[in-house]
Order: sequence, then C-alpha cells, then structure tokens
Amino acid sequence: MTVLIVGGGIGGLAAAVALRRASINTRVFERAEEIREVGAGVTIWSNAIMALESLGLGKQVRSLGSKMLRINVLSAKGMPMSSIDVEAISRDCGAPSLALHRADLQRMLLDALDTDQVHTAKECVGVTQDRNGVSLRFADGAEVAGEIAIGADGVRSVVRSSLFGSRKLRSARYYCYRGMAATPKVTQHEVVSMLLPGIQLGVFPEVRPGEAYWFLCRNKPSDTTWADAEYDHMAFLRSVSRELPADLGAMIVGTRPEGILVDEVLDRPPDKHWGHGRVSLIGDAAHPMAPTFGQGACMAIEDAVVLADSLRRAIKPDSGLRDYENRRRPRAAAITRLSWHYGNIFQWEQRALVMWRTLFAASPFGPWNLRRILRKALRFHPPELVWQENEYADSR
Ligand SMILES: Cc1cc2nc3c(=O)[nH]c(=O)nc-3n(C[C@H](O)[C@H](O)[C@H](O)COP(=O)(O)OP(=O)(O)OC[C@H]3O[C@@H](n4cnc5c(N)ncnc54)[C@H](O)[C@@H]3O)c2cc1C
Repeated sequence: MTVLIVGGGIGGLAAAVALRRASINTRVFERAEEIREVGAGVTIWSNAIMALESLGLGKQVRSLGSKMLRINVLSAKGMPMSSIDVEAISRDCGAPSLALHRADLQRMLLDALDTDQVHTAKECVGVTQDRNGVSLRFADGAEVAGEIAIGADGVRSVVRSSLFGSRKLRSARYYCYRGMAATPKVTQHEVVSMLLPGIQLGVFPEVRPGEAYWFLCRNKPSDTTWADAEYDHMAFLRSVSRELPADLGAMIVGTRPEGILVDEVLDRPPDKHWGHGRVSLIGDAAHPMAPTFGQGACMAIEDAVVLADSLRRAIKPDSGLRDYENRRRPRAAAITRLSWHYGNIFQWEQRALVMWRTLFAASPFGPWNLRRILRKALRFHPPELVWQENEYADSR
C-alpha cells in the first residue's frame, strides 16, 4: 500500500514518519522548491511530545528548544498577576512541554525520512479516486497513483476542496506578528504572557541558544492601508513597545523587520466530515484553529500517529481512514472551539470587558481555569505503532 501525502509541513512530515514506523509506504509532495527554514518559534506541548515519543523521536525533540516550566501572566503595567506551573501539568501528562524553532522541528521530521520519499516543487492541483486507488494531478502536468491520498496541505487545502468544494475560512478579526529576537532579560524556561486592550503578547525564552520567540496579536485595525504592502508594521510595533516593560519592548523593536511574520488568524468551525473513500485530511487542512493555546501543530502530530495506527489495523483503506477520522474529530473540534473562544476573549479591548478580564485573571479562578484547559489539551495517550508480538495474529 502506498499513501500519497500532499504537503510537507509539520502535519505531512509527521504523517510520513508515523506511517513509515507502521511499515506503510509513503510519498510526500510539497509545492515549495525546497523544505527550508520557515517560521519563528512553536510551542510543542506534552501531548505532541508523547506522540513524537511514539515515533521514536522523543529524545531528539527534547534536545531542541527549551522546556516551558511556568507561564507568568503580567498585567498591562507589567506587574505579576498569576503564574501557572506548566511543569507540574506537563509531568502529569507524561512529558515536558517545549518551545522550539519551527525549522528545527521540521528538520528533525525530515531527517527521519528517506530523501527519495519527499518530492519538492510538486504543487497538487486535484485528486481523483475510484474503487482501486487514487491519483494526484500536479501543476506541472504530472500524475501519480497510489492507494490512499492524505491532504496535509494547510488551511487552503486543495485536497479538501477536491472532496467537499471550498468552504470559507472564518476570520477572527485579529492578526498575529511573530519574531525571533536576542534573548532579553527574561527568566529561562518561564513564558511571559501579557494582555493589553486589543493586544496579546507571549514571549518564550531560549528557543535557540540566545534567541527568544515572541508573538503579538492585535485586533484588525480600521485603517484600510493595513492591507497595503507598504503598511508600516514596525511603526505599530514601536508604538506598542513603548507601553511594554522596557526589556520586552526593546526585544520587539530590536527584531529584524524582515524576519517578522504577519498572519491573519483564521479557523473553520469543526467539520462533520474530513474525508471520503480513499482520501482524508490531516492538520490544518482538516481543522484550522486559532493559535491561542499553541495547539495547531500539536494536533497535526497527534493526527499523524492516530492515522498510522488506524491504517495499520485496517482491512480496507477506506475503513482505516474513517476509523482515523472518528478517533480524531471530537478532540480536534474541542480544541478548535476552545482556541476560538479564548482567542476572542484575549483580544477584548472595551474598557469594561478588559477590567472584568483583569479581575478574573488576578483572582484564583483565572489560573484555575487556565490549568483546567491545559490539562485537557495536554493529555494524549498515543497508540503503539510498532507491531507487538502476537498482535498481528490477534488482529486477524
Ligand atoms: C501565529 C500562529 C502561531 C502558531 N503557533 C503555534 C504553536 O505555538 N504551536 C502549535 O502547535 N501550533 C501553532 N500554530 C499552528 C500551526 O502553525 C499549524 O497548525 C501547523 O503549521 C499546521 O501544519 P500543517 O502541516 O497541517 O499545515 P502547514 O504548516 O500549513 O503546511 C502545509 C504544507 O503544504 C504545502 N502545500 C499547500 N498547498 C499545497 C499543494 N497544493 N500542493 C503541495 N503542497 C502544498 C505548503 O507549502 C506547506 O508546506 C500557529 C499558527 C499561527 C498562525
């Protein structure tokens, strides 16, 4: 059986590694010319570390980035309001939670594959299927046949559109800046989280030696020049940084402007179907979510492990894919809803709402609620992907 994977992002590469571990052949097709250093930092929480452990990559991923031991929530004036013991929650969930560079994670996954498994400069433009197999069509006119196709091609998935037509993405009406900067004087392993009216800031130290990862979300400005290529994002960041504690402000304005990413935050309310016949979806193609709890890539890694487990046990390809979807949809939907809901709350800017949020965050209920959400998100028990003695006989 050969599984054709469209997209070589974190989801596509993790799926290829997981399927390989389950002794299933895969080929990955990525539209970019090469799989190269992209993005800034990424948080990979216990749930995804557990999934990576089951792929035999636990030790490697732990050697990247740094552990997140604590989240310190600061007031708009930079005063400590509450603190979450991430280390304790992660320990309960079986593995540490890490902040790392996205490129380092992608490289680790790529290195776990054979070079001839990943084909670059291959933009998929359509998928067809019949009772015997699937076929991918590419922009260069080529076609490739296989037994199963997986769309790991992100929020604007072509594979998804081939199956279900296009369904509009939902704009959260806020944008997210991301950058890497020389580490400011923040305590190692301690994440800083700050909510200002209409603005959310997170700082993750030592993602790479001497480098911190930061993100800053802002509500969509009414200024219509926002969408222009010449819009001065640095002018906005400079003005915000003046309101931040000096170290954090200096870190943001000291970031190389060409290294700063700007993304509109999008999701899609959970879908009832992720696939049909011999085709299914994984990661953002299946469940785009707001980045509020840093779980999009983690969910893609979880998907990968469950997909491989469902396919290795399946008698027929389509039943394996439906089993995978049934196992994954409820959890992905729950995290998508939570991310949307809290993402909107974190972006509140009206005075009364901000006051209410500040009082809540500073009360015992604020940290209690955040711990409750993290416990839910971080708990994942990955299946065992390598055949155990007697398992093959038992499964027949
Ligand atoms: C601001 C922000 C911060 C985030 N922070 C975190 C975080 O801290 N932790 C976390 O877990 N998640 C985070 N996420 C979410 C995370 O980035 C995504 O969920 C994750 O990257 C999804 O991986 P994917 O492989 O499904 O999709 P993608 O990363 O989008 O990869 C899709 C791949 O498919 C390729 N492709 C697309 N179309 C085609 C085609 N037609 N043919 C061939 N190839 C194609 C693309 O080039 C790309 O390489 C964040 C997201 C945002 C926007």
